[in-house]
Amino acid sequence: MNNHLFSIAIHGGAGTILKSEMTPKKEKNYRDALQEAIFAGIAILKNGGSAENAVVTAVTVLENCDLFNAGKGSVFTHEGTHEMDASLMEGLTLRAGAVAGVKHIRNPIILAQSVMNLSPHVLLLGEGAERFAESIGMEKVPQEYFSTELRKKQLEAIRNSGKVALDHSVSEEIHKKRGTVGAVARDKAGNLAAATSTGGMTNKRFGRVGDTPLIGAGTYASNQSCAVSATGWGEFFIRGVVAYDVAALILYNKFSLQEAVRHVIHDKLGKLSPIEGEYGDGGLISVDNQGNIVMDFNTPGMYRASCKEGEPVFTGLYEY
Ligand code: ASP
Repeated sequence: MNNHLFSIAIHGGAGTILKSEMTPKKEKNYRDALQEAIFAGIAILKNGGSAENAVVTAVTVLENCDLFNAGKGSVFTHEGTHEMDASLMEGLTLRAGAVAGVKHIRNPIILAQSVMNLSPHVLLLGEGAERFAESIGMEKVPQEYFSTELRKKQLEAIRNSGKVALDHSVSEEIHKKRGTVGAVARDKAGNLAAATSTGGMTNKRFGRVGDTPLIGAGTYASNQSCAVSATGWGEFFIRGVVAYDVAALILYNKFSLQEAVRHVIHDKLGKLSPIEGEYGDGGLISVDNQGNIVMDFNTPGMYRASCKEGEPVFTGLYEY
């Protein structure tokens, strides 16, 4: 029975997103892209479509937009390549699919969905994931498809520094901005789903994989609690098992969604021991099985949008 109202939230990364660094045109571009993605998800949910399809569709729109660090517009590795990660989970049966380190897949989130629906596996890696893509007739694209001038500049700026950066720009400050994308939704049947996709960190090497393709770290969904998609410095989100921690606080400690997210993002994440002097930062979007939406971050901003059935769409970039 369709007696639930749908809810959906999306993000395009958290980090140092400052109004002072935005031009009205740039800001409009981001808001337009977020709106396009959330309306694509809403169109599915409105017609009784599944949360799974809504989150995959919204993330696909964001992957196709080169403003974000996922799909087209992904950051460069140290070697000057693109290696992308994505994952999907649905909350009714706890099925999940993910890919890590793929190089020629136009929409890594669609491959993650195929892993979930067409294979007996959860996580496929690199060349193997690409062979799986070929086996199901998925088109492969050249690496250049993902490249943009901005990402090239970002790599050049830090290539020889030995550092990795999680961000969008060449400036030191904007190195704190992240463009990973994600979506969470509850559909009219009351089912939850979460999806996340990223190009990872600029200048990453040695096959580094972040939290995005790891179920429980960057993505989690269970109808018993909530759906979560995270963005931020992946190593901290892995160590904090962030997405699952939010769900566990709801399930076992009877926290509200807001209390759980607040505790994980503001109390726990920043207390993990630092990496090269820096503390874990980032944020997440989440929806619980009652349709409540919480989007929170410990950075100056997070690209985000949300909508509950019957209410207007919200888009936000900064803290307010
Ligand atoms: N979490 C992603 C990673 O560490 C980065 C991001 O959120 O932008 O790969």
